[in-house]
Amino acid sequence: MPAVEIHVKNSLARTGKGYQEVHEWVDKDETKKVERHDIKQLLDNAEHIKSMWGQEAAREFVIHLHDDIKARITRVQEEYAKQMAEALAYFGIK
Ligand SMILES: [Zn+2]
Repeated sequence: MPAVEIHVKNSLARTGKGYQEVHEWVDKDETKKVERHDIKQLLDNAEHIKSMWGQEAAREFVIHLHDDIKARITRVQEEYAKQMAEALAYFGIK
C-alpha cells in the first residue's frame, strides 16, 4: 500500500492540500490500522474525519482506501501471475 508520503503527494496534487493528518490517522496507529481500512466501517470513519477535518478530508480518506485497495489487488494479481507461470513451467505445461 502506498506510504503516507505518497498519499499526501496525491492529495496535494488533487486538492492543493496534503491532508497529512488524515493519512497519518489512517496508517500510523498500528493498533487501529486494520479497523481504519475496514470497508465495513467506511461510513463511520468518514463521518469522523469529516467532523475533524471537513468534507474534502473525508473524500481524501475514501480515495486513500481506494488507492490502498488498488495497490494491494495489483500486487496480488502480479504475484498470482508469477506463481502460476512458475507452476506451469515446473510441470512442463505451456
Ligand atoms: Zn492506508
